[in-house]
Amino acid sequence: MRQTEKFIQEQKNVSMPKQRLRYDTPLAEVVKYAQKSCGMCGTCCTGNSFALEKEIDNILKGLNIKRDDISYFFNEGEVLGQKVYSFKKINTGKKKDACIFATSGDDYKTDCQIHEFKPSRCSTFVCKDTATSAWFYFNMLKDLNPSNLRELLSIMEADRRPNNVSPLHIPKKQYQALITIGDALDIPAKDYFVALNK
Ligand code: SF4
Ligand code: SF4
Repeated sequence: MRQTEKFIQEQKNVSMPKQRLRYDTPLAEVVKYAQKSCGMCGTCCTGNSFALEKEIDNILKGLNIKRDDISYFFNEGEVLGQKVYSFKKINTGKKKDACIFATSGDDYKTDCQIHEFKPSRCSTFVCKDTATSAWFYFNMLKDLNPSNLRELLSIMEADRRPNNVSPLHIPKKQYQALITIGDALDIPAKDYFVALNK
C-alpha cells in the first residue's frame, strides 16, 4: 500500500481537531455545516481563494465563460502539486481588494456572484472553525505525499511573515492536524512546527 493511501486509511478513524468534522465527513455535510456557521460578512472574500482543476469547468459553465477567457478572471497556479485557479481581485474602494466575484456593499456584506457553483475552498470555509480548512486540505488536495507536504510547510512558514498574503493561510490551531499527516508520512513535521513557533 502506498504511504499516502495508508495515511488516508488511518485517518478514517481519527477525529478532526474540533470533533464536529471527521476526515471522512462527506462534502455535502461540510458545506451544510459551513453555511450554518457563516455570518456572511464577506471578510474572507478579501483573502485568496481558488478553484481546483476538477471544479473549474463547472464554474466556467455556470458563468458562461470560454476557456480562452479564463485569464480575465483567474490566475493559474499550483498548490500541493495540483493546478489551481485563484480568483483575481477587484478594487472595492475599501482597505482591501476583494475577489472578482464578490459584490461588496456596506460593511463588507457581500454576495457571491457564483454562489451556486463556487469551489469547495469557498463553500467549506468557516473562519471560526479551522477543522473545515483541515478537512479541505485532507480531502480535496489528497495527494499529500512527502514532497507536497514539505511544500505546504514552507508555504505556512512564508505565511507567518508580516505582510505576506499566501493562498494558503493556515491558522496556528490547525498545525496539529498537519503534524498528524507529517507523522504518518515519516516527516519530522513536529520538530519543524516547534522551531516555527519559537
Ligand atoms: S466565513 Fe467568516 S469571514 Fe467568511 S463570510 Fe463567513 S463569517 Fe465572514
Ligand atoms: S468565489 Fe464567492 S465566496 Fe469565493 S472568494 Fe469569491 S466572492 Fe467569496
